[in-house]
Amino acid sequence: MPLSANNPSIKTWLNVPENSDFPIQNIPFGVFLTRDDIITIGTRIGDTAIDLGALHQLGYFDGIELTDDIFLQDSLNDFIADGRKTWRLVRNRISSIFNQDNATLRDNAEHRDKILFGLDEIEMQLPVDVGDYTDFYASKEHATNVGSLFRDPENALLPNWLHIPIGYHGRSSSIVPSGTPIYRPNGQSAPKDGSGPGFGPSKLLDFELEMAFITTAANDLGKPISINEAPEHIFGLVLFNDWSARDIQAWEYVPLGPFLGKNFASTISPWIVTLDALEPFRVEGPVQDPEPLPYLRQTGAQNYDITLEANIMPENGSESLVCRSNFKYMYWSMAQQLAHHTINGCNLRSGDMMGSGTISGPTPESYGSMLELSWRGQKPVALNDGTTRTFIQDGDTVVMRGYCQNKQVRIGFGECTGKILPARNLEF
Ligand code: MN
Repeated sequence: MPLSANNPSIKTWLNVPENSDFPIQNIPFGVFLTRDDIITIGTRIGDTAIDLGALHQLGYFDGIELTDDIFLQDSLNDFIADGRKTWRLVRNRISSIFNQDNATLRDNAEHRDKILFGLDEIEMQLPVDVGDYTDFYASKEHATNVGSLFRDPENALLPNWLHIPIGYHGRSSSIVPSGTPIYRPNGQSAPKDGSGPGFGPSKLLDFELEMAFITTAANDLGKPISINEAPEHIFGLVLFNDWSARDIQAWEYVPLGPFLGKNFASTISPWIVTLDALEPFRVEGPVQDPEPLPYLRQTGAQNYDITLEANIMPENGSESLVCRSNFKYMYWSMAQQLAHHTINGCNLRSGDMMGSGTISGPTPESYGSMLELSWRGQKPVALNDGTTRTFIQDGDTVVMRGYCQNKQVRIGFGECTGKILPARNLEF
């Protein structure tokens, strides 16, 4: 199946601002509420949202095997379950409908009125109903930094790390779309000076700059997915902010790992950019030494060159860039994560979400969390307004962005934002 939608020379009859994350070569998938309060699956070109439910009802997908209601749903799970061949047919067809040389919809004002929306007329929703969410720990730099800060700089990387894509099962109920405000969590923290544990609003609230991939229903219970098959079961990626309360995390994580320090909220960007759209940006990952076990061995370019950034915007202030990293720094690729996740027979379902873990690069500016950027509060990070941050304050908005760029095309993810509200007052 050719990826004709990726052809960089295609131009669209829709207006696309310069440097848009969403040229006609992107064609991401999302779910939105329209001005008539109808929920639909859609895509986006430039700053125009496109109602795929309406396109389908008006016959624009004729010839592709799709159920009548496939886009008239509040999640992409069923569409994702249709598999890669269908995703490619639909993406290629959308590319053709909006090609500047195709007059069918371009010159039909009545249809355009039913199908096209301005971004201010829609409200983005979660794109998938996330059944299961797993978070990995796939950046060697991040794992080394956290090991140094939480345990022992001499033995920062635990002996298993270079052999296993480390992960834990997170919580899907608190995954929210970009723009959803987040309450600072209350919780326990480690005892000080021989007294009992602390309790109250987290003082060390942090972001984690991550990406997450969304899978299709890949395997039956008991049947692993081989590393070579893994990529065809990945639908696409979103930006992912795995909000973390470091004080709660540090006290609770032994012996079973992250719990309430992580599961109060995770924010995702609302448009899923397909793995197909990212194809031109494949790159080799870091050299893996020691060589992984045979079921984790891969060949070819399995990482993706995606520039990532995190910004902090104080209440009524402007954004300050605090981190610039890249998805290519991941030590364990998505294919390795998927092969590892299923090697014991664990079954994946359509709409499952896999976080990469914080993506820190080799330089201090590329560290993907305030824990690392401020070295646990020892090195305050300066903002444009003259204030500093060691962790995130009430009223701060964290804005993440991600994009790929070559000489011909830019494919981006838009924004992943969340504002921190003061903790709720609790009475006991
Ligand atoms: Mn994480």
